[in-house]
Amino acid sequence: MAESAGAGTTLLLRGGRVVDPAQGLDGAYDVRIRDGRIDTVGANLPADGATVRDVAGLLVLPGLIDGHVHCFHGLGPMIAPDTVGVSRGVTTVVDAGSSGHTTFGLFRDHIMAPAKTRVLAYVHLSTLGGVIGPEYENLGDPRLIDPDGIAAVVEANRDRVVGVKVHAITGAMGALGLEPMRQARALCDQLRAPMMVHIGETWSQEPAKPVHQIVEFMQPGDILTHMYTAQRGGMLDGTDRLHPAVQEARGRGVRFDVGHGSSNLNWGVAQRLLDMDFVPDSVSTDGSYRNLHWLTWDLPTVMSKLLGLGLPLTDLIAMATCNAAAQIGRADELGSLAPGRVADVSVMRLEEGDWKAIDSQRQERVLRQRLVPVFTVRAGEVIQPRALEPQPPPTPAPHHAATT
Ligand SMILES: [Zn+2]
Repeated sequence: MAESAGAGTTLLLRGGRVVDPAQGLDGAYDVRIRDGRIDTVGANLPADGATVRDVAGLLVLPGLIDGHVHCFHGLGPMIAPDTVGVSRGVTTVVDAGSSGHTTFGLFRDHIMAPAKTRVLAYVHLSTLGGVIGPEYENLGDPRLIDPDGIAAVVEANRDRVVGVKVHAITGAMGALGLEPMRQARALCDQLRAPMMVHIGETWSQEPAKPVHQIVEFMQPGDILTHMYTAQRGGMLDGTDRLHPAVQEARGRGVRFDVGHGSSNLNWGVAQRLLDMDFVPDSVSTDGSYRNLHWLTWDLPTVMSKLLGLGLPLTDLIAMATCNAAAQIGRADELGSLAPGRVADVSVMRLEEGDWKAIDSQRQERVLRQRLVPVFTVRAGEVIQPRALEPQPPPTPAPHHAATT
């Protein structure tokens, strides 16, 4: 049976390094969990009858949030939420538009409900959702955009739906050009919900939508994902410069997310943007079967890749906790170990030692440190990690190979 600090039980995590950016905490503290909630965070707390776990030498973090995954398991290449969630040190995952308003009920009842991991979602602007991937021109057909239908589902599921997802690429929007962006803008204004926007043209041979045109549709609180893509339509122009409209978008409060995925983390692009001090607001895997078993692995691995690029650990922890929580409108509920919150805790080891990491273009780098989940506490229950079986990378599609 799983060890638990559910109703009537107490668990004490003793002697770890607690990093909780939301509370400005970084130091040696104990964490007491009672009845599935955070009871106290403090130095040298008495055992007081609690089950004590010695976590000396480990990082004790607010439950990590992976703000961009594809977990409509059973549909196309999508993974189960726990595979990328509690099994890998992550207590909340946010599905980025795998369901649309006609498929959300299925997603809610059959994916969200049974998962141990907390699952939230952006509903796709397409009636059907992302289905099996953005290569479908599902936003290029006006019959597959139904703002009233989406609005009804969002309103009825505010507890689980955090916004609307749009693939702002020619491969998805097809002949409708930027019209889906206009419709998404109107819908998000009406709903007062953020839109998450995918950039990076992986699947189409048509000209990409320039990012400076896309960000014109984005307002404070909206999220641009795949900021480190090397695909056409990415953040940098042909001379490696950032378009002023993108900088302006950040200035007015548009957020920028990593969204590693199969195609969208490139060492060179990331380095160039970091050199400009253009850092992510949030870090995410964009995890699916297409990338999980050979490239992205899990959120701690994606964080480790950015650590290797020079981002400070505490900044990365903020990105995966309080920043990610704010991004989905849950800052008062998730992303902190504040007393009274649901006891979602990620206990990690920062391993020292060389390991080989690759980017989406399969370029190798040797990195020095790696975050590894040791155990996860989800609503007071202790869950052990489960490793993913390595699998060979898929053969790149010919049009994919043509990109840098
Ligand atoms: Zn995605």
